[in-house]
Amino acid sequence: MAKCWICGNKADSKEHKFKASDLKRTYGKKFDCYYIQESATQINSYKDNVLKFPEVICIDCNVKKTRPHDDAYDIFVTYCFKNYELLLENGNLDFQKIYGTNWSNEKRNLYRYFAKHAGCKIITSEYPQDLTDISDFIIGADNTQKFVLYFELKMIINVIHTFYNREGKFVHLFNAQTQYYGYYDNLTLAGWLSNNWITTNWVYSKNVNQNKKTDFNKQIEKLNIVNLDYYDKDLMESETLDAMITHFEFGKLNTMEKRIEHYQKIIT
Ligand SMILES: [Zn+2]
Repeated sequence: MAKCWICGNKADSKEHKFKASDLKRTYGKKFDCYYIQESATQINSYKDNVLKFPEVICIDCNVKKTRPHDDAYDIFVTYCFKNYELLLENGNLDFQKIYGTNWSNEKRNLYRYFAKHAGCKIITSEYPQDLTDISDFIIGADNTQKFVLYFELKMIINVIHTFYNREGKFVHLFNAQTQYYGYYDNLTLAGWLSNNWITTNWVYSKNVNQNKKTDFNKQIEKLNIVNLDYYDKDLMESETLDAMITHFEFGKLNTMEKRIEHYQKIIT
């Protein structure tokens, strides 16, 4: 039986790859949609196993200990959804506006939410790593030395969101494949998650520069605006919605080399 990578107890819980509340809010408890990862799998409930990691954490960590982190994530995505114009104009995230007076601790909880997601991705990847740095952070350490986030706003997703919502309900949730690079004893692992137009890149590495480490007393974080000119016009007319969405998520990061360069910039 595997051990929970957060606390070391028996792993008996399956963390969602997409947050259950995102799926429920989006599709209701029962739905028809497709989960795309190499091949499409039809799913009809947010409880479907294809949406979950195997058992790599325990129930206590997944449900109790990380509840405030899940809540911080819900507040974050709801805020970003309601404040598209403001975010676009400012090009930053103001954590006081998102969370109010307790923003510093809530910012930390938001990062802990993404740390749990990233840890589950890393531990189930081809190259599982020692995750002590983020497990300590999740269960109470004030900071992390190896884990950073980088936020982006993808304007094109707002455009298609507006377009498709004239007739139906369109919601975009995306979970990029874990990328790894470096040498066997010094690997960097990274990925991103999108909730509609907000993309959160995560990087886990021993090589995070001092000045790129997260400061939880910093109220404002940069939000990189990915504008419409970023995309290759020809590819914007892809024949299928899947191909189009993939292009909108990856844009110029369409090769492994470019993705590595992107992640490397985030930590150096
Ligand atoms: Zn645990």
